[in-house]
Amino acid sequence: MKSRSSLLLTWATIILILAAPCLMAQTANSHTPPAAAQQPNFSNVEIKVTKVADTVYMLEGMGGNIAVSVGDDGIFMVDDQFAPMAPKIKAALKGISDKPVRFLLNTHYHGDHVGGNAEFGPAALIIAQDNVRKRLEEGTIGWNGNKVPPTPKEGLPVLTFNDRLTLHLNGEDIRITHIPNAHTDGDSVVFFPQANVVHMGDLFVTYGFPIVDVNNGGHVSGMIAGIEQFFSALPADVKVIPGHGPLCNVEDVRKFVAMMKETRALVAQAAQQGKTPEQMKQAHLLAKYEDLGKGMIKADQWIDLLYAEVTEKTGSARQ
Ligand SMILES: [Zn+2]
Repeated sequence: MKSRSSLLLTWATIILILAAPCLMAQTANSHTPPAAAQQPNFSNVEIKVTKVADTVYMLEGMGGNIAVSVGDDGIFMVDDQFAPMAPKIKAALKGISDKPVRFLLNTHYHGDHVGGNAEFGPAALIIAQDNVRKRLEEGTIGWNGNKVPPTPKEGLPVLTFNDRLTLHLNGEDIRITHIPNAHTDGDSVVFFPQANVVHMGDLFVTYGFPIVDVNNGGHVSGMIAGIEQFFSALPADVKVIPGHGPLCNVEDVRKFVAMMKETRALVAQAAQQGKTPEQMKQAHLLAKYEDLGKGMIKADQWIDLLYAEVTEKTGSARQ
């Protein structure tokens, strides 16, 4: 019976992981007691390591995907999931390299990407875009309305930048680029030119309609423009590590952007015809993308978000 119940628990955890990575992220980051059914069980999570290129690995566990560059100069890590995952991440890294983590980049402030900061911070220099430190230092109201408390000093980035930063490490000129007003207002994407790999943070995810954190400077049009501009300068065969989901390619990103553009256009057109968001929902305006609404963000939420965006400022619809 014992093994059966633990098996059930394992499956429950797996379903939770698949169903709600970012929801749990915010829950774990806030001090609101989560419902028992939503409480992440980190003990059952295993780290899956994928070798993406000679010097770049992808680590999946619970929370945002991690990328690491390894080599003679030490480890550069992109994101660190949740604090309770740190021992497992450290163990997985030992299997890849005997060097220490010297630099850690936070792609944005969300708890499922920065939760392990204090665990790695004392030994590794934490890097982030200026707005990430600001959000973490002051605390904020998260994308789902939950309170995100201030992060203790030991978990704060100590090196911040505005537009871009280049890290010369492990034979690479690793390019960190800020994409303004996209998933949040502090998103970084990381390109490893020698390895030909990019880590997209949550600018690109595979769990359905994306979370756009409008409470913290996120914007769908900023996401579209930012991704398109960034990818215009990348090789067509670059390997793409999404913020959440399996390893992807340029075609996957192209489809993701096309979906955002098409749904934005549909909502803008309906808004121009005087339709309310409720009418759009009743008419199943986004029926073509029904499957994407089975993830974190439901189709109705996506319509509300797009409607607010296409009617903002001028009060009239625009594309
Ligand atoms: Zn995020």
